[in-house]
Amino acid sequence: MDYLARVKRAGARISTGTDAHTAEELHNQMPLDEYVRKRAQGLYVIQKHRASQLHYDFRLEAEGVLKSWSVPKGPSLDTSVKRLAMMVEDHPVEYGSFEGTIPEGEYGGGTVMLWDTGTYELEAGVTWPEAEKKGRLRFELHGKKLKGVWNLTRMSDRQWLLIKSRDAHASKEIDITEAKPRSVKSRRLLASIARDEGGDVDKAATGDPKAK
Ligand code: MN
Repeated sequence: MDYLARVKRAGARISTGTDAHTAEELHNQMPLDEYVRKRAQGLYVIQKHRASQLHYDFRLEAEGVLKSWSVPKGPSLDTSVKRLAMMVEDHPVEYGSFEGTIPEGEYGGGTVMLWDTGTYELEAGVTWPEAEKKGRLRFELHGKKLKGVWNLTRMSDRQWLLIKSRDAHASKEIDITEAKPRSVKSRRLLASIARDEGGDVDKAATGDPKAK
């Protein structure tokens, strides 16, 4: 059963006025803000964030919030690579559409890019609270950049690992953060976002790929 059908069966009210048959189609037909408001769960977001250190904020909508991990090196499509993912504070679901600058001196001060977005499905037969408590989240991503099955596995306290599962979307060759450095919302690089929004352009540029 596709994700949308499952949510409908669970009683969530999704009256979209579109002819979307899958969550991905639905997502592609709606502005993100509207999509975020209408859905009870299932949003997936990565925000590339050049704060004091560059990191990728990996977020999954569950229990009414965006559960969040800070991934210093970002995701890897290589199934043998384990990326550290520090669990950080929950964020409001509405924050999932944010791209822009946070004033220097404030928490997280710097530039934020909407690096990827879409929906996710938790593996069948488990609930979020059970899976989080066990420290074993296995899910399928339907993003614009990341797809297929991924895992978040807890090592200790707030330390988790983000690991790609073996499937058609895994790759040892493609470095996805290098290959796809632009915003899915605006196509901008970090430096352009900082320039447009009055941020620190030089600092933001250190998070972009080096000019070739
Ligand atoms: Mn962050």
